Amino acid sequence: QKPTVVITGASSGVGLYAAKALASRDWHVIMACRNLEKAKAAAQDLEIPPDNHTLMPIDLGNLQSVRNFVSSFRSLGRSLDALVCNAAIYMPLLKQPLRSPEGYELTMTTNHLGHFLLCNLMLEDMKRSPYSDKRMVILGTVTHNPDELGGKIPPRPNLGNLEGFAAGFKEPVTMIDGKSFEPVKAYKDSKVCNVLTMRELHRRYHDSTGITFSSLYPGCVADTPLFRNHYRLFQRLFPLFQKYITGGYVSQELAGERVADVVAAPEYRQSGAYWSWGNRQKKNRKSFVQQVSPQARDDQRGEHMWELSTQLVGLT
Ligand code: NDP
Repeated sequence: QKPTVVITGASSGVGLYAAKALASRDWHVIMACRNLEKAKAAAQDLEIPPDNHTLMPIDLGNLQSVRNFVSSFRSLGRSLDALVCNAAIYMPLLKQPLRSPEGYELTMTTNHLGHFLLCNLMLEDMKRSPYSDKRMVILGTVTHNPDELGGKIPPRPNLGNLEGFAAGFKEPVTMIDGKSFEPVKAYKDSKVCNVLTMRELHRRYHDSTGITFSSLYPGCVADTPLFRNHYRLFQRLFPLFQKYITGGYVSQELAGERVADVVAAPEYRQSGAYWSWGNRQKKNRKSFVQQVSPQARDDQRGEHMWELSTQLVGLT
């Protein structure tokens, strides 16, 4: 049987192209999406073979939906050999926070808490799989890291002492550090949590399970719909800026191949690694393991994030 991978947010952008790349490497891809009509049309457009994919509903901004997804996956009777946590929202123009059904701020819920719950639940499925090279991959981004050029633009991420999580993360709390609402920072904070989650998974479970836990920055994929909630002018200029000024631009196809490599290529079998191809793209440039930001490599903060996230998603 083909190995099976679950990819969240496979209806557009990096997740869709990763689904395409893995399907063409003869994986069976579970496309875990919130809009199945859209995902179906996208899979058809890209000619992902019907035999190589299954569409399944998940809303990462709703923790009950994450649990329902896991139950439905289990009823398929497939083993789980890889998981890619890719879905994300970025809503830079929001003035007021949106909330999940649980009452948590929605960017952090979708990007981090939903995936945190999914990783913890699906770890059990992966442990049961007989596949010899199991991997769990979480998408990172350069903007998580103020030490990198792409991460220097304010507002910078800052988890503080996780005061907002500790206070229950519901109204009136909007941010992980308990400070006032800043939608761009909420996205960056969530991506720091993604990297911390990957590193904690590695510390806690790599030795006992043999699973490879890793993360990556695929490059600046400037023309994905991630920027759909930004000003129109930004959407037009950002890809050009990244192509001709910073040199960071990466096509969706290439980003999808990079994710597929981290999931399946032998040279990426390194647990705890954060892969990057650098900020400026050069043809045939090799990937390397990059140091993550000071907050994302702080083990104490990682443990604290783990404990509080466990409580918020109801795993205790
Ligand atoms: P897109 O907006 O193109 O794709 C995001 C995907 O997530 C879509 O399929 C979207 O579904 C899905 N999604 C959003 N909210 C939910 C939800 N509540 N439940 C389920 N699925 C949801 O963005 P990208 O492809 O650019 O981003 C993918 C990942 O790559 C993200 O983790 C991002 O942080 C990371 N990344 C992106 C970079 C870039 O330059 N674009 C750079 C570095 C990292 P729908 O189609 O229904 O909206």
